[in-house]
Amino acid sequence: MSCTPTASAHLPWSTAPTRERLRTLQLNLGRFCNLACTHCHVEAGPKRTEMILGFRQLVLAVRATGAEVIDRCNLAVLQEPG
Ligand code: SF4
Repeated sequence: MSCTPTASAHLPWSTAPTRERLRTLQLNLGRFCNLACTHCHVEAGPKRTEMILGFRQLVLAVRATGAEVIDRCNLAVLQEPG
């Protein structure tokens, strides 16, 4: 018998959490943003340059599975030249 307490001994629930069916998947496709919010979970900002390539192909592939695709963007980027 081990004298080391298990992690579950410190959890407020008696059984392991269960996972439900995946309903929403959010993908952050880049880190370029005209803002630099301190709470940003991807540390985006105007000096970041990482952007995903193949956005259209990604959307087409996901839609082909029957999933709904919602494209949200920072609308300020639409006013940028180019
Ligand atoms: S991605 Fe959203 S949270 Fe992050 S810096 Fe831009 S506006 Fe702020």
